[in-house]
Amino acid sequence: MTRPIHAQIDLSALAYNLHLARRTTRAKVMAVIKANAYGHGLLRVADALRAADGFALLDVRDAVSLREAGFTQPILLLEGFFSAQELSLVAEYQLSCVIHSAWQLSLLDQCSQRGAVSVWLKINTGMNRLGFAPNDVGAVLETLQRHRAVSEVTLMTHFSQADEVQGVSVQHARFKELAGARRLPCSLSNSAALLRYPETHADWVRPGIMLYGASPFADSTAAQLGLRPVMSLTSRIIAIQNLRAGDAVGYGAQFRADRAMRIGIVACGYADGYPRHAATGTPILVGGKLTRTLGRVSMDMLCVDLTSILDANVGERVTMWGEGMPIEHVAAAAGTISYELMCAITARVPMSY
Ligand SMILES: *Cc1c(COP(=O)(O)O)cnc(C)c1O
Repeated sequence: MTRPIHAQIDLSALAYNLHLARRTTRAKVMAVIKANAYGHGLLRVADALRAADGFALLDVRDAVSLREAGFTQPILLLEGFFSAQELSLVAEYQLSCVIHSAWQLSLLDQCSQRGAVSVWLKINTGMNRLGFAPNDVGAVLETLQRHRAVSEVTLMTHFSQADEVQGVSVQHARFKELAGARRLPCSLSNSAALLRYPETHADWVRPGIMLYGASPFADSTAAQLGLRPVMSLTSRIIAIQNLRAGDAVGYGAQFRADRAMRIGIVACGYADGYPRHAATGTPILVGGKLTRTLGRVSMDMLCVDLTSILDANVGERVTMWGEGMPIEHVAAAAGTISYELMCAITARVPMSY
């Protein structure tokens, strides 16, 4: 037997979630596959999402590997290029790229290839992370539209609270004011805006998290949104301990039994990407039944309560998240979001598709 932890990636669920995104909008869908496709494996995911109209990611080498694998759709670099060398790859492989800052405009001047770069001009409408200030957009746009290296310009922005009650109205209004009369293609929506604010769909939507089958919202689950989970992280019980009242479990003796208890030791720890901040009580499935974690998560193991699961023994299957165990519930218990859990899966966890 090998160490039993394993991430199963359901490629048909990915295709299904893309289909659901498509049914929600008339806009073209740019599938966001940054961060190794949110931890799911870049090329396998891109292949399952080949019906997407485009792909968005960060690393120019990843974009090149998609081109070399035969993908012909637009491939957008969400932070653009970082150097003149990257810019020449952008031109060579016909990549689209975000331009968010003046220093990138200066680099663009070094590109001699005519009409080589499709630019997505990023406008800062309130996130205050990347993008040109609304007052600068007119001048930047003029420069880009005259630039010999630029083939076309798309206007884009990114929402900071599309997943919250505050919504998108202030940022959307600022964007519309700038984009309104210009008749250029526009892109605003992440998953949350795609699902909740159809008025923001414009020409291109940019869903990420929903494709992987998790909800962007705190107030609704993936199942309520009709999404299917893509990643199931499972392992097995590798030891059983019988505690007496007063016995403690794990580092720091953070959990102490107040009565006799049967517990299971699971081959899954923070070195696999399970969050160490998940406190006692984090939900977890053992043999398909809901129970809770106990004590601190260690590097390679965690403990589960078997009090109500009397028939569970060594070898019993444990689901940390995935089918039957919403990743959002685990994330909430660990004080984080599903995005972080997915991206945190480490290289030592075998993946199958
Ligand atoms: C990550 C990202 C997205 C996708 O966001 P989700 O919340 O995962 O749908 C869209 N646009 C930009 C600019 C991003 O960085």
